[in-house]
This record gives sequence, structure tokens and C-alpha cells, in this order.
Amino acid sequence: MKTYNGNRREVLKKASQIMGFAAVAGIAMKETAKADGGSMSPASVGYVDHPSGTHQCSNCSLYIPGTPATANGLCKAVSGPISPTAWCQIWAPAS
Ligand code: SF4
Repeated sequence: MKTYNGNRREVLKKASQIMGFAAVAGIAMKETAKADGGSMSPASVGYVDHPSGTHQCSNCSLYIPGTPATANGLCKAVSGPISPTAWCQIWAPAS
């Protein structure tokens, strides 16, 4: 392991590089979260891979359709790929 024996300039330069990397990594993580939809886990909202009567993701106001429409999409509230024919406890009718 490299040590910085009192070379303040080198320490500050290294700290600056680390901070820059952390900022870039933080932005990348936020973009990944957006690409995965919402932040709630499927288990926390009782997500199941089948409809509940006529209620399913494809007619929920929080659903973001995939392409084509039969492909998995995203949900504004729940993370991960979302089946258009799935359902969860926070389903809300699309207007
Ligand atoms: S039913 Fe649940 S998982 Fe499906 S789109 Fe609506 S909120 Fe998201």
C-alpha cells in the first residue's frame, strides 16, 4: 500500500481524483436506477406475474410499456422488469 509521507500536494491531488470518481459513479448509479424503473422491491408490493381480475400492469397508471407492447416494461414505482400481465397491490387505474 502506498503511503503519502507528508506530501500534502500529492494527498490533495489524490483526494480530488477520488472525489471526481465518486461523483461520476454517483451519477452512473442514478441513471441505472432510472433505467430499472422505481425503487420499491416487487416483494414489498406483492408483485405477482399474473393479473388480478381485469387489473394488470398494462392498464396501471404507473406502467411504462416495453417495445413491443407484449415485452416487459418498467414501473414508475417498482424496480426491475415488469410484465404487462402482472399485478401488484399498488395498482392504480390508468386514466
Ligand atoms: S400494477 Fe404494480 S408493478 Fe404493475 S405497473 Fe402498477 S404499480 Fe407497477
